[in-house]
Amino acid sequence: MSENMTVCPTCNGSIAGGTTMFTAKIGNGILILEDVPAEICSLCGEKWFSDVVLDKIESIANDVRKRHIKFEIITFNAA
Ligand SMILES: [Zn+2]
Repeated sequence: MSENMTVCPTCNGSIAGGTTMFTAKIGNGILILEDVPAEICSLCGEKWFSDVVLDKIESIANDVRKRHIKFEIITFNAA
């Protein structure tokens, strides 16, 4: 994605920065991340995450995977 993308390539809706929920299946468990920063289409709801955010999601997922969770909700901290 372009850093300055403002129009959704799917529906031509406008894209704005915000936060969203990210869910992932980890082994037999479910991980839910809240307040994940994303660029979100106001029309179709499509979301894009920056590389920094994706890296952090990946590291949280790796950590959670080691703990064999069934269900966990983590508030994403952008720091
Ligand atoms: Zn869209």
